[in-house]
Amino acid sequence: MTRTHCPYCALQCAMHVESDGAGGHTTRPAPFPTSRGGLCRKGWSAGALLAAPDRLTTPLMRPAKDAPLRPVGWDTALDHVAGRLAALRAERGPDAVAVFGGGGLTNEKSYLLGKFARVALATSQIDYNGRFCMSSAAAAGLRAFGIDRGLPFPVTDLAESDAVLLAGANVAETMPPLMGHLSAPRLIVVDPRRSATAERALAVGGLHLAPRPGTDLALALGILHAVRAEGGLAHGYIEERTTGFDAAWRHCAGWWPERAELTTGVPAADIRAAARILAGAGRAHILTGRGSEQHANGTDTVSAWINLALALGLPGRPGSGYGCLTGQGNGQGGREHGQKADQLPGYRRIDDPAARRHVASVWGIDPGSLPGPGRSASELIDALGTADGPGALLLFGSNPVVSAPGAGRVSPRLAALDLLVVADFVLSETAELADVVLPVTQWAEEDGTMTNLEGRILRRRRAVAPPEGVRSDLEVLHGLAVRLGRSGAEFPADPGTVLAELRAASAGGAADYSGATPERLAAEEALHWPCPDGAGTPRLFLDGFTHPDGRARFTAVDHRDTAEAPDADYPLVATTGRVLAHYQSGAQTRRVPELAAAEPEAFVEVHPDTAAHSGLVDGQWARVVSRRGATEARVRATPGARSDTVFLPFHFAAGQRANLITDTALDPVSRMPEFKACAVRLEPRERA
Ligand code: SF4
Repeated sequence: MTRTHCPYCALQCAMHVESDGAGGHTTRPAPFPTSRGGLCRKGWSAGALLAAPDRLTTPLMRPAKDAPLRPVGWDTALDHVAGRLAALRAERGPDAVAVFGGGGLTNEKSYLLGKFARVALATSQIDYNGRFCMSSAAAAGLRAFGIDRGLPFPVTDLAESDAVLLAGANVAETMPPLMGHLSAPRLIVVDPRRSATAERALAVGGLHLAPRPGTDLALALGILHAVRAEGGLAHGYIEERTTGFDAAWRHCAGWWPERAELTTGVPAADIRAAARILAGAGRAHILTGRGSEQHANGTDTVSAWINLALALGLPGRPGSGYGCLTGQGNGQGGREHGQKADQLPGYRRIDDPAARRHVASVWGIDPGSLPGPGRSASELIDALGTADGPGALLLFGSNPVVSAPGAGRVSPRLAALDLLVVADFVLSETAELADVVLPVTQWAEEDGTMTNLEGRILRRRRAVAPPEGVRSDLEVLHGLAVRLGRSGAEFPADPGTVLAELRAASAGGAADYSGATPERLAAEEALHWPCPDGAGTPRLFLDGFTHPDGRARFTAVDHRDTAEAPDADYPLVATTGRVLAHYQSGAQTRRVPELAAAEPEAFVEVHPDTAAHSGLVDGQWARVVSRRGATEARVRATPGARSDTVFLPFHFAAGQRANLITDTALDPVSRMPEFKACAVRLEPRERA
């Protein structure tokens, strides 16, 4: 029996993995305060992932561009990839090669992938799928507090709160054990859907505010307006611990609740009720998720929620706070170690001369040889195979054919590449299109560290030997780097050696891991970063914020409409999200029989009147059509749904991909796409 952590979401519930005596493996909850000894359905069934029947155990390669994939040996595959990369770089320069990572990769993989791109390939063209799911909250957190740690307090603090506002987070389905911390506080759930979390809030006397998608910012302004009217502003805190309130208030002053109702559709009485709950709570938290972030105004929307939290005096007050609920398993660590286009390890900016000097000294290179910032994920996808864009892509831990916005554009861009290399443990929808597929280890087959949504560094332990023929991502990077002329010592394949280097590279940065020693990790210490030698930091901001003046900053923000408005041809708004049985692109969970049986196909949640207006009834297959394409889903007539909004989960493949319809419009600050709102129409599938 081996203690490790769940392969899926950012709660990183602890579990024991053990043999079932018949060649398979089971998972059982392990004690862990963050998950209160719980697992959700995905965690309980994670052992089945290890027995995926279509597990890749040998590299695959196409002998010619349109030929089928064929098994080859590791040396053949790596020699071929390295040779093609070297030739492309010689012909077109280092930026002709791009790297795409993932928020589920361990800290060690995220770190070595960033180093591989900047040192072995010398390319600026690296980004990762976390750009799609946390970057707006990260940008808003940085500008407000000077640092971005999803939750700057332990999850266990939530149980002591009197009131929690959850904006755009369906926790009851995405991370159910977290709900155990939310049974005491009054809940205010902000979600266009009457989600499972909203139902729970209503059942215990809380509030559900259901704004029109894309209007959360106006709702936050309306609540702040009402808080002030209720006399709930924390004047002393605002004076002593913040700057910028007056400028922020000038944008808020016109958003009295009745005006906010006109824009959001949330009754003014409910806006005032939310304000009274928050203003009257001794301890309160405001938490945001993807629903607030995945918009073309996502960074400003999160800033509006942070402004509300600051006006109430919550961040840095013991027992209160603001936090972002990171989604992917290593969504927090994945954005700290350098696989993001604009960052170096330690959560350092790549355009900061001091950061470049420090990281270059750890890497033993000239700081001047480090490339600058590259394209963001969605822009990188658009550039693939173009005259000015990369001609080769190395992809680790991601499945953009399903998960990228406007997914119909992805396959043509991948097909235009000279070389697509995908490292995965199964033949994902993206791997199916690759020129070379490299079979890699999965969660319970590898050692490493993950960082959960509280910034808590966790030990991932190897519980099972990987199948013969499979290598770790670190071994793949080592093998390619050596073939590209780097020394093996620069790119170690051993996770412990990589962690030691990561600790040195992060030292002195915002996300300082230097005290995360193997001994402390093995002892399961509560190691929240920053953890320089000495204790970790479970709670940030108690003595001051990270800006040089120690104060948090209000940001002056105002409502903007979504990039795409409904019209006569596309009269409805589609929004997307997750369901309990699946995780991200579904590449893993669709392979677990229990989960596939629970949610076997795409659905579209729609008000019965709206369905009838489109000639549809419950259970019928519909086409959901936007300006970018169409997807198919079975109608779930839902009386609690807004009549102007439909919801689709994004875990399904082929013609059921929700991202075939989503918008590629980007937030100007974070470059995060607007997954959560696009204009659509519904029609019976049979009409197509
Ligand atoms: Fe816990 Fe998330 Fe895994 Fe469910 S998916 S068991 S909530 S870590």
